Amino acid sequence: MVRLNEIRPGEVAVETPAQMDAGVYFIGRIRTPWTSRLDCPRQGRLDGPSCTIEVSAPWADGLDSIVEFERLEVLYWLHESRRDLVRQSPRSDGNARGVFSLRTPVRPNPIATSIVQLVKVEGSTLIVRGMDCLDGTPLIDLKPDRTLFNPLAPPQPGDFQVGDP
Ligand code: SAM
Repeated sequence: MVRLNEIRPGEVAVETPAQMDAGVYFIGRIRTPWTSRLDCPRQGRLDGPSCTIEVSAPWADGLDSIVEFERLEVLYWLHESRRDLVRQSPRSDGNARGVFSLRTPVRPNPIATSIVQLVKVEGSTLIVRGMDCLDGTPLIDLKPDRTLFNPLAPPQPGDFQVGDP
């Protein structure tokens, strides 16, 4: 069930730190048909409606060559989410789970990701299918879908390894 602002049985809210550790740039806005969380899909589908990603100045030049990729990973900021619930009960049945075992929009940093089909590039605007966010949701990044890349070569002598100082 979609959360609007309630705390459900079994859920736990924490006091969030007074200070942030980093800042983000909103690099654009996502235009979708959905103006209410009640209507938004839980996850986007590649056969879903066309949505528009508007990339703002000065970031638009970063779209150069993006047309080469049929699928993109979109990162966006779920700006209407509360951020303090560490245990949540998605089914409102009192069986709460930790936030990091869920794809809930309610998270300490409400970052969402979707894999989308790139339909068209028109200047600084992308037409895509596969979104699941409210109209006007801030965009934080775009990357080619990682599955379009070949696996990395096996490590070579002298390569950095996890755990190296
Ligand atoms: N696909 C993303 C993911 O897995 O990271 C997001 C999934 S999240 C379950 C999608 C839901 O977030 C939508 O159904 C809607 O209820 C909610 N949502 C969408 N846009 C939002 C926004 N801008 N602020 C807060 N909640 C939003």
